[in-house]
Amino acid sequence: MKNILCAVWLGPAACIVLPAAWAAADHNGVPLTNLYKQSMIRTDTVKKMADDDYLALLDRAKQVLPETIENHERFELPELDILQEGKTTVFRNFIDVTDKLRRDPLHLLQFLLRELGTPGNIEGRRVVFKAKISPSTINEKIQTYTETYVICSECGLPDTKMIKEDRTLILECEACGARRSINVRKTSKADTQNVLRVGDSIEILISDVGKKGDGIGKHLDYIVVVPGTAKGNTVQVKITNMSGKTAFGIIDRTER
Ligand SMILES: [Zn+2]
Repeated sequence: MKNILCAVWLGPAACIVLPAAWAAADHNGVPLTNLYKQSMIRTDTVKKMADDDYLALLDRAKQVLPETIENHERFELPELDILQEGKTTVFRNFIDVTDKLRRDPLHLLQFLLRELGTPGNIEGRRVVFKAKISPSTINEKIQTYTETYVICSECGLPDTKMIKEDRTLILECEACGARRSINVRKTSKADTQNVLRVGDSIEILISDVGKKGDGIGKHLDYIVVVPGTAKGNTVQVKITNMSGKTAFGIIDRTER
């Protein structure tokens, strides 16, 4: 065993010298100690060089690896903690999400309110939406926000910042230096989702009263007129008529 070891680490010469020294040590410990120490030093040196080579190799391998693989594993949003409480939806770890995205909470809030077509406020680390919204819908919007305002399209990293240049919003990547303008996308999917139709039943907050005394609320970018409601009411409304961006509805009692 000793012979094999020294053949590997020290070369053939040591295989002759070392066993002789060990043999000698059986009678007299002194020469062995010296020789053994020398051999250990040399072993350590050889071993250190091997480690260095290995690390260098690892470094090189990392450089060759496509960065995106590493990134997608690295970047994960916190799992959204959302629950519906009566007529509201509470997004309990909202600030955890904006912390992770390194974005202004107000920016994300405005985006969500616009996309979801609902009023809402930041309360502490939470956001309270004044409507029932499914967690999957919110999750989908957060994904869109992340792709639009956070992720670098070149390297896939979230280490970016938004810069305003003239009137263009630029996303600059701190990891790879890439820059792209932020295009606030209006996908066809979002368009079909944001359409109100006759027969739809929606929950809205009556935020105003019209000249004729009808309650008025907003849904997406529609004005919804609902007779028989008062300001401050949250009501379930069935849309009965549409005229451009104005919708007319009646209180929908079938839902409850
Ligand atoms: Zn990048």
